[in-house]
Amino acid sequence: MLIVQKFGGTSVGDLDRIQNVANRVSETKKAGNDVVVVVSAMSGETNKLVGYAEHFSSNPSRAEMDMLLSSGERVTASLLSIALNEMGFSAVAMTGRKAGIITDSLHTKARIEEINPDVMISAIKDGKIIVVAGFQGVNENGDVTTLGRGGSDLSAVAIAGAIKADLCEIYTDVSGIYTTDPRIEPKAKKLDNISYDEMLELASLGAKVLQNRSVELAKKLNVNLVTRTSFSNEEGTLITKEENIMEKPLVSGIALDKNQARISLMGVIDRPGIASEIFSKLALNDVNVDMIIQNKAHDGTTNIDFTVPVGDLYEAKGVVDTFVQKGDVKDDSYNEKICKVSVVGVGMKSHAGVAAKAFSAMAVESININMISTSEIKISMVVDEKYAELAVRSLHNAYELDK
Ligand code: ADP
Ligand code: ASP
Ligand code: MG
Repeated sequence: MLIVQKFGGTSVGDLDRIQNVANRVSETKKAGNDVVVVVSAMSGETNKLVGYAEHFSSNPSRAEMDMLLSSGERVTASLLSIALNEMGFSAVAMTGRKAGIITDSLHTKARIEEINPDVMISAIKDGKIIVVAGFQGVNENGDVTTLGRGGSDLSAVAIAGAIKADLCEIYTDVSGIYTTDPRIEPKAKKLDNISYDEMLELASLGAKVLQNRSVELAKKLNVNLVTRTSFSNEEGTLITKEENIMEKPLVSGIALDKNQARISLMGVIDRPGIASEIFSKLALNDVNVDMIIQNKAHDGTTNIDFTVPVGDLYEAKGVVDTFVQKGDVKDDSYNEKICKVSVVGVGMKSHAGVAAKAFSAMAVESININMISTSEIKISMVVDEKYAELAVRSLHNAYELDK
């Protein structure tokens, strides 16, 4: 078999763990498989580099950030390759560029446009173990780009698609996909399998166990994706097509996203087209707007509240400022101390009363819900950040996910 194995930050968190990864990769190779390994930076390393940049600037150039952040993954890729060579294997470390990963130029959250796998494929034919530095590519000018936080997952899936791997294994520090983050709710249950759509929803709503874009791509390319732990041989969770899953629970999981901020615009001039102007300009600046609420104020103006990822706040403020200066918006305020909790399940489509249960779970704990949005397969609520964990646990309990 041709297998892509991706190891996340904790799995390569120190030199012993890198050796552990080398041992695991060597077992896979010795069993007769071809292996392409994708690695993250050592855990904490990317945040450390971000911190270094922030020492000098509150808004560093995103292209320079990519030069900086991509270095973390190169360290682990080369160390792992050195370890494998020392064990008698023929291994070669590759940057994103060498692996043929071409992206657009949206620095720090670039999209993969194509992969030219020729160099990888000829190295595989030569019997080599390839170790690719995850999270990175290059744009058409050859500038280094990165794929958004958690982006090594995306590297792994994209490579698995490009080289037509039989399997893509994502090794992390938990043994699979759980009904919610097991670090928040120890009673969370590991799932044997989950559909691409549910996983995509969980990941998009904050379950960082897989980067959402990696799930989207796995679905599109029909990549066989398994999430498992690098610390034991325990079986993981298969992420697969909905029709492969026999049992369809009403609710499959609870997600938490603490990385959201709420922007409130007060006294917005009430004329047709204003919402379109504001949100088009936000979109032009690559600000990812999520929930939106609009209310009429007493003085004939309106108030508009919306959420954005914390990482987009700087750009969002810049856009809002232009409307404040024009007088279209009287006042603006920002709240980073919020979070979004979500209930996800494809089974919801055909059931009534699922949302009511979520609201009453919040009521029982006296948690105030600030914003609500629903779709066919999810219910999301914005609440104060201090209630984040409590909200997750009470929802997990309300839907009896520990059963
Ligand atoms: P890696 O560094 O290996 O990429 P991450 O830290 O990005 O690992 O993702 C793994 C973490 O995701 C787990 O430690 C866990 O706390 C968190 N997580 C959030 N939601 C879930 C979930 N539903 N199932 C499993 N893990 C989850
Ligand atoms: N090192 C990068 C991050 O911390 C990418 C990854 O780990 O997947 O976001
Ligand atoms: Mg990750």
